[in-house]
Amino acid sequence: MTEQATESLDFRGELYQGTTSVVPQTHLQESGALAPEGSSSQTPQPRARVQAMKEYHPPLGCRDTLRLDFNENTVACSPKVREALGRISAGSLTRYPEREPVEAVVAAYLGIEPAQLALTNGVDEAIHVLFEAFLEAGDELLLPVPTYTMYEIYASATDARAVAVQAADDLQFPFEPLLAAITPRTKIIAIANPNSPSGSAASRVQLLEIAARAPHSVLLVDEAYFHFHGETVIDLIGVVPNLIVARTFSKAYGLAGLRLGLLAGPVELMQWVRRVLSPYSVNSLALACLPPALEDAAYLDWYVAEVLAARTEFEAALDAAEVRRWPSHANFVLVEIGALHKEFTRLMSAAGVLVRDRSSDPGCDGRVRITIGTREQMRQAAAALNATLAALKPKGDAQ
Ligand code: PMP
Repeated sequence: MTEQATESLDFRGELYQGTTSVVPQTHLQESGALAPEGSSSQTPQPRARVQAMKEYHPPLGCRDTLRLDFNENTVACSPKVREALGRISAGSLTRYPEREPVEAVVAAYLGIEPAQLALTNGVDEAIHVLFEAFLEAGDELLLPVPTYTMYEIYASATDARAVAVQAADDLQFPFEPLLAAITPRTKIIAIANPNSPSGSAASRVQLLEIAARAPHSVLLVDEAYFHFHGETVIDLIGVVPNLIVARTFSKAYGLAGLRLGLLAGPVELMQWVRRVLSPYSVNSLALACLPPALEDAAYLDWYVAEVLAARTEFEAALDAAEVRRWPSHANFVLVEIGALHKEFTRLMSAAGVLVRDRSSDPGCDGRVRITIGTREQMRQAAAALNATLAALKPKGDAQ
């Protein structure tokens, strides 16, 4: 049968014969796959590093309400992406995904060479693979904190040491302390720009200075929230020899469920990233959706403009409610709730608005991060916030 014929086959096509399960029940029982946990003293043990890793359970579940907890797009992806999904044939799913043609499209869009770019299964995979490729015993991962949790988690699976540089109470980028923390052992410096959960940003001049002062380190600039900030260093790929930039399609593009991210960097560094990266980690549905997502600039522009307008409005509502907030360059804002942060988060959720308690982040006790959606959604959020604060007021120190 030719490729063409396979393409046009439907699941109800003539080759499809039956409806019963193809996995014999007895096989499952005999394989012992469902043996109870810890049943043998010979249970294989993972590496000591893995045993010492913290468990990470993002608080997902029951999210069919206003999702202001994960900094996602709160509406939808581009309708052009929906159309592309609708065009995917059953036959095409039988093939392994081919990332190179799409990498060429994305590289051209970003103005870099295809060899300078790798698509990944979200930025999370990009971080994981980068760390696996570069971090070994004796190395240090340098991080301004608070920041994105997964840097530390993926680093803890390696033999390197994470070195955290605490931001001051204003949560601005701790530029001078970070420079002072660079050592000959620093192998990667990971900077989310803008940062989460603070919303603060490092300037281009600061990033260039860090890259120059640590030529033996990879400077990872994670531009997950770039679209809401508008400043990038991606134009310096290949110019600054130790700079790698990450981007995600989970935020402004609204494709968190498809898992799409990228790393851009000089070929000399990207060749090692590619050795570790699975050739098939970006699936064919995601690959098919990427070019239309990039082409629909009008949709992206609309969503970003809507969020920025909503952020201004929501910040005014926070100010009116006398809630302390940190200036944000991203699609979220960090606010000070105080000792009743857990109760606040619970009551907001009960009012149909999910927000994210960041109290366990370093230097963030009592602080809650609220994603910015559309103006209409943020008016609903502001109403819930005011009602929640009023409900908490007699009990204690919520402002
Ligand atoms: N980097 C930062 C700074 C983030 O906040 C997030 C998501 N919360 C990611 C990376 C992960 O993005 P992705 O969905 O592409 O894995």
